[in-house]
Amino acid sequence: MFSIPVGKHQQRSKSMHGQKRIMVTGGTGFLGSFLCERLLREGNDVLCVDNFYTGSRDNVLHLLDDPRFEILRHDITFPLYVEIDEIYNLACPASPVHYQHDPVQTVKTNVHGAINMLGLAKRTKAKIFQASTSEVYGDPAVHPQPEEYRGSVSPIGPRACYDEGKRCAETLFFDYHRQYGVEIRVARIFNTYGPRMQTNDGRVVSNFIVQALRNEPITIFGDGRQTRSFCYVDDLIDGFIRLMAAPAGVTGPINLGNPGEFQVRELAEMVIEMTGSKSGIVFKALPIDDPTQRKPDISRATQQLGWQPKVNLREGLERTIAYFEWKLSGGVNNRFS
Ligand code: UDP
Repeated sequence: MFSIPVGKHQQRSKSMHGQKRIMVTGGTGFLGSFLCERLLREGNDVLCVDNFYTGSRDNVLHLLDDPRFEILRHDITFPLYVEIDEIYNLACPASPVHYQHDPVQTVKTNVHGAINMLGLAKRTKAKIFQASTSEVYGDPAVHPQPEEYRGSVSPIGPRACYDEGKRCAETLFFDYHRQYGVEIRVARIFNTYGPRMQTNDGRVVSNFIVQALRNEPITIFGDGRQTRSFCYVDDLIDGFIRLMAAPAGVTGPINLGNPGEFQVRELAEMVIEMTGSKSGIVFKALPIDDPTQRKPDISRATQQLGWQPKVNLREGLERTIAYFEWKLSGGVNNRFS
């Protein structure tokens, strides 16, 4: 039922060299792999935990030779017994196509997963970070969205497994904090993109770039007037690190995202122009409960963390397009960043 603890992460004592032992669930995923890399660069021991549902070893191949890096195949819906100083709980498919493929498992990952990771944090007295989401705001009636906004989420729709799962995870984090004094950090992540997204990720930025590079039709869902605000991965990871390092009172929830807001059709035009693609545009049905607008109010992150994104959409797209060009031409080791 549970993993046998292995390697240095079963040792009760602190890391030999005084670094922190940090666990990243979902560590081989898009965000997780960048986070593992950053934490290693800062001199920490990193335990990367993943069930490889959407994660990929390719994303961390370049880290495997580092003696401070360890991978454990494990599904966080089952308990895990390791000794650890900090936990970043990122595990959960984040693309609507993937999280709706097995919605029951998505709920379990968010809810049972949170309970298991919070239990681990409670026992080891580890500080724990939760990757929450702008999806907790649902189809928002308030624009842009501040953290105080309680959201407009359907509890029974096809997105609910993710939205409500993440909302329940936030509830658990704050209950473990109040009831047991667990030190928590909750980030609400807005749409993020960058290198290492899978070609079949299904989210809008990767879909449009892959379609454009293949000169296939760009699939706009609905009329393309719905908006999203796209954050480049490096900026987001910087926000994670700042939030984890913030003083104990800073629990969040805290929005992390780029406030630059774009219509989906504007994104399509920009990608076609930047790739010099011959792709046309096809309009497809808008998925049920697809939010009509989304833009973070990042005042709290700016005040409490001194954080704001630095990479604008055009710059981030350039880097991401370069990655997918490399990937589609057969690149395998995702050293790319
Ligand atoms: N979308 C689209 N074409 C695609 C994929 C997504 O028009 O090929 C739209 C989708 O309907 C949504 C927006 O792009 O309005 C962002 O979708 P994504 O799946 O990236 O993330 P979401 O913010 O909906 O979780």
